[in-house]
Amino acid sequence: VSEKAILSKSTFVKSVQCLKAFYLHKFYYNRRDPLSKEQQAVFNRGHEVGYLARSLFPNGKDASSEHPSQYLKSVQQTQNWINQGESTIYEAAFLYNGVLIYIDMLHRQDDYWHAYEVKSSLKISATYILDASLQYYVLKNALKETFSGISIINIDGQYQLEGGQLNPQQFFKFRDVSQNAEENLAYIDTQISKARVIYQNQQMPHVNTGLHCFKPYTCDFIGTCWQHSPLHSIFNMPFTSIEQIQTLLAQKKINLEDLSSTDVISKEQSIIIKSLKEKSIHIDQIKILSHLKSLSSSLIFFDCELSAAAIPIVNGNKPYEAFPYLISLTLPEGETFSYFLNHTNDYKPLFRYLIDHTKSSEHIICFDTASELILINFGIKHFPDLAYELEALRNKLFDFSLIFKQVWFYHYEQYGSFTLKAIAQSFIDRDFYKDLPVQSGLMASYAYQYYLKETDESKKVNLKTDLIQYCEKDTEAVAQLFSKVKQLLNHEN
Ligand code: SF4
Repeated sequence: VSEKAILSKSTFVKSVQCLKAFYLHKFYYNRRDPLSKEQQAVFNRGHEVGYLARSLFPNGKDASSEHPSQYLKSVQQTQNWINQGESTIYEAAFLYNGVLIYIDMLHRQDDYWHAYEVKSSLKISATYILDASLQYYVLKNALKETFSGISIINIDGQYQLEGGQLNPQQFFKFRDVSQNAEENLAYIDTQISKARVIYQNQQMPHVNTGLHCFKPYTCDFIGTCWQHSPLHSIFNMPFTSIEQIQTLLAQKKINLEDLSSTDVISKEQSIIIKSLKEKSIHIDQIKILSHLKSLSSSLIFFDCELSAAAIPIVNGNKPYEAFPYLISLTLPEGETFSYFLNHTNDYKPLFRYLIDHTKSSEHIICFDTASELILINFGIKHFPDLAYELEALRNKLFDFSLIFKQVWFYHYEQYGSFTLKAIAQSFIDRDFYKDLPVQSGLMASYAYQYYLKETDESKKVNLKTDLIQYCEKDTEAVAQLFSKVKQLLNHEN
């Protein structure tokens, strides 16, 4: 085996998304945007699910090499094991027509090899089928008549963890996609040729930035191609339609700053663009006051963190079903306190804490009540004896985010974003979340799962501190935003 690999599964998908991204990846690899912690965590999750799937075909040989540059070693090793009559090979490597692929599991049934690709998702997307089609293309040519086809193994969303013991046979489901792959062969061939031309000519194709920079994946070269932050682009403007985006793209209007009042299609967009042009804050006093008028002075601010694991950890949970682990509460005077669950064995103390610390408040203020409702419903489901008190608590929830999401209150520095972080940074302080090791709810969810598995006590303590700090920052942000809104409303009067 001495052929050079020009394309892999990931660079093929990249070339289909954008030939310029493929060119940059091949010749300017170092210009890639740094991997976010969230992206890294998603990769880790994929590996975890992949390892679990190996138990479906146990005792296989692993052909993976220590470094990606040693791919020829993996290809040779795979071939040797096939020749020696092995029946299961993990990370089986093949190279055909300059395309290098790795198969999660290659299994021989009688005299035929079947390929299995593992996905940690509940659904099989068109991109996954395209991935599998590329692998099918290579395998069909490499294994010839001994190849029987390819299947995707993904997670069954209906599976429920019982007795703390996961059953891989029920957790995974199989779908044979050989027919789809067969139909895609001509397309695959054309796409490989296009990528090959780019590679051989070493010339960067001219491709404008656009919606394709984010679909099906956010491109690694956003920092190279986008003149301004894509966060300030029309793709992040709310209340848009595909037709509007297409019209703006045709006029080469990509940044929010490029838009004028004639480009908008809703009153919310008018407010966003007008505020940006005038660098102003929009306040619809009447609507805000009407929303806030039911509130008494007996308040408490509340935020919770939920985690969701592909492989369920909590008994009774399905894959990706959320489970709570942290709550934080802030009093109007500013004092903040939290409850963190060190394990997943007993949730009751968390709900008891929440009930006891909120019962004297008439209103519980949240920024978007979606997570808090999941938490309360989780409590009602698992602890019927607390249902009455939790239902009472649920009736006291007040969604403070509405005044922002309805664009009654808008700061030009939000750049069309309505996340708590964007709003808090605009209205309170630009660096409100600066230097926090955990920067988002998603990151916190992954960090908690690391916490549960961590055996080093000092690392556990650090992770716990980071998570509490993040959750408390959110609750304090809501409390500070609340007083800021009141202050600005008083100022208007
Ligand atoms: S940022 Fe957009 S245009 Fe640039 S390489 Fe990536 S997908 Fe292509």
